[in-house]
Amino acid sequence: MHMHAEETDSRWEARVGNPVTGQKMTATDEAAHREATFQAMKRTRIVKEMVSGDYAAVLRWKQAVPGQVIVGYSFDDPAKLDLALLRKEHAAGRLDAIGEVGVQYEGIAPNDPRMEPVYALAEELDIPLALHLHPGPPGAASSGSRSYGRRWAIRCCWRTSWSGIRGSGSTSCMRGGRSWRK
Ligand SMILES: [Zn+2]
Repeated sequence: MHMHAEETDSRWEARVGNPVTGQKMTATDEAAHREATFQAMKRTRIVKEMVSGDYAAVLRWKQAVPGQVIVGYSFDDPAKLDLALLRKEHAAGRLDAIGEVGVQYEGIAPNDPRMEPVYALAEELDIPLALHLHPGPPGAASSGSRSYGRRWAIRCCWRTSWSGIRGSGSTSCMRGGRSWRK
């Protein structure tokens, strides 16, 4: 299952409630959030998670349960991605996957040429690439992400997935907690 690790999150202070049960959030910081997530996983028998978010926090999740966490590196804008850093992290044995890739928030489609260096790196390192799909957080399409791409998302994701990046690398499409994996 895909999950997010954060160093800070305004929802922890706001004690945002569960939209289904109304229960107030119990996590108030990174450690509490991590622990509450591990407890929920145990309860629901989830044994492995691909974690992205704040990279330093993701590494601390991995430290806490080394055999359970697949470490991902998140970004939205491929122009700001430090490819050398990813190579270094992979060489050090810390990086397991590229993602969650949130280019949709930048209005960049999966088949945009700006994604080529990212796909090339996934091939070079032979690691999976995890691509975010619509819908994202509430209001993403109409508030903070004005260039948010919607219509093309699923069509392009399938095209990207099934035309494939070579090797054992795979493309995982993340949408509202579900993943379609090639
Ligand atoms: Zn996510």
